[in-house]
Amino acid sequence: MKYKRTLVWFRNDLRLHDNVALFSAIEKSEEIIPVYCFDPRQFRILDLGFPKTGSHQSEFLIQAVDNLRKNLQELGSNLLILNGRPEDLIPEITKEYQIDAVYFSEEVTSEEIAVEKALESSLWKIGIEAITFWQSTLFHLDDLPFPINQTPEVFTQFRKECEKFSEVRKPLSAPEVVNSPKINWGDFPDLSSYGIGKVPVSLRAVMEFKGGEDAGMARIDSYFWEKDCLKTYKETRNGLLGADYSSKFSPWLALGCISPRFIFEEVKKYESERKKNQSTYWMIFELIWRDYFRFIAKKHGRKIFLVSGIKDNVDNWVRNEQLFWKWAEGKTGIPFIDANMRELNETGFMSNRGRQNVASFLVNDLNIDWRWGAAYFESQLIDYDVCSNWGNWMYVAGVGNDPRENRYFNILKQANNYDRKGDYIRQWIPELQAIPGYDIHQPFELSTKQLKEYKISLGGTYPHPMVKIPKF
Ligand SMILES: Cc1cc2nc3c(=O)[nH]c(=O)nc-3n(C[C@H](O)[C@H](O)[C@H](O)COP(=O)(O)OP(=O)(O)OC[C@H]3O[C@@H](n4cnc5c(N)ncnc54)[C@H](O)[C@@H]3O)c2cc1C
Repeated sequence: MKYKRTLVWFRNDLRLHDNVALFSAIEKSEEIIPVYCFDPRQFRILDLGFPKTGSHQSEFLIQAVDNLRKNLQELGSNLLILNGRPEDLIPEITKEYQIDAVYFSEEVTSEEIAVEKALESSLWKIGIEAITFWQSTLFHLDDLPFPINQTPEVFTQFRKECEKFSEVRKPLSAPEVVNSPKINWGDFPDLSSYGIGKVPVSLRAVMEFKGGEDAGMARIDSYFWEKDCLKTYKETRNGLLGADYSSKFSPWLALGCISPRFIFEEVKKYESERKKNQSTYWMIFELIWRDYFRFIAKKHGRKIFLVSGIKDNVDNWVRNEQLFWKWAEGKTGIPFIDANMRELNETGFMSNRGRQNVASFLVNDLNIDWRWGAAYFESQLIDYDVCSNWGNWMYVAGVGNDPRENRYFNILKQANNYDRKGDYIRQWIPELQAIPGYDIHQPFELSTKQLKEYKISLGGTYPHPMVKIPKF
């Protein structure tokens, strides 16, 4: 028997292809009401004074939701836009439009689960079924070769077991038609009412990130097929400058505009049609990291947000807002850190190499509470993903599941390995650009005469280093 009407609540699965909640709802129902809910709690100001979701991410989100609406309209449907708490609004909608069931994707972290539970309980009281679906990972939860509470703590073990005993399911195709009733589909909220401002376009950004399934699919097409970058990904992935050193899929993956299983299938196609090598495998390898942090988050629950992480370490972190803001604003006096933080602030993106270094600097050199760094990234990153972000931060902070005791990054050594000529610094810290070659990474080592020649005043045009960092 078919339902008359099903509500599909879109969350971090803003796509039509490989969307099992949408696919199942269409199979089971005569009509669908697709819904997206802007939840004001996502935009609240945190204790440190910045919004939980900053401007870059908010703009990307609006674009992604808008694109989903357009794509649904092309299939004869639309997207109902709500503004408020899903657990309050969705039950009201179900009554108003005589809905039989609510379908949505399952999340794994505490705030998202709390919303799910509250919604399920409200729906249960009015006799409406809530059905959840596992999405977003490469390997399906039900296909893991271990129960979730036995997820291996060490990545390599996790990866090897998944690769050996599990298979990636085939992605589902996008529907061709979506039947929906005629209703008032609502308007987008004005995010400026939450204090979220518009972001000026940055001419220095690695690339333009436009939210939505269309732009995400276009990026896969461009990176794999047009530019043929996949075959050299392993060698280029630690770069810092330009669109193509890495895939830049992360913002679209974070909101579910593209599915990891679709990427997997494209890699397999590339391997059979173009080339199969270590680079093509490495793309899958990185997507397995993404899965790993999601399953670890599911296993450990709220612990990933606690200061002790999933370990029982004592809390001896420093909580000094002045030091924290020097880091956040890119004013530490250490060019490699400042350049990366300035890129993040201006564009919402930072390379993986940059993230490792700035995170290590905050937790190891400044000893500042790692959760402050994670919260700042949460606000600023255009690709913020709760599990990847908090999981990676735990890892760098030594409170996660890293088998290595000390994950300290020697910044000057990293700068030498990944930006030997200093071009990255020249891009983001133009006030230092007269310093030639690698020397740009350590203006604090220059003589007074050299500083004068390059028109740099330490403590004036560029800060003194806030801490002494090891030489390399
Ligand atoms: C402190 C810190 C915080 C981070 N926060 C986030 C975050 O909020 N969201 C996010 O997507 N990634 C996060 N990462 C992981 C990684 O830096 C980004 O996924 C990557 O830089 C995105 O660029 P890309 O898509 O070009 O990556 P590529 O190198 O092209 O990798 C392809 C995909 O693999 C996945 N991936 C790659 N590296 C990692 C990793 N270390 N952990 C998890 N997944 C990975 C991503 O989905 C990525 O899009 C964080 C890393 C660190 C060190």
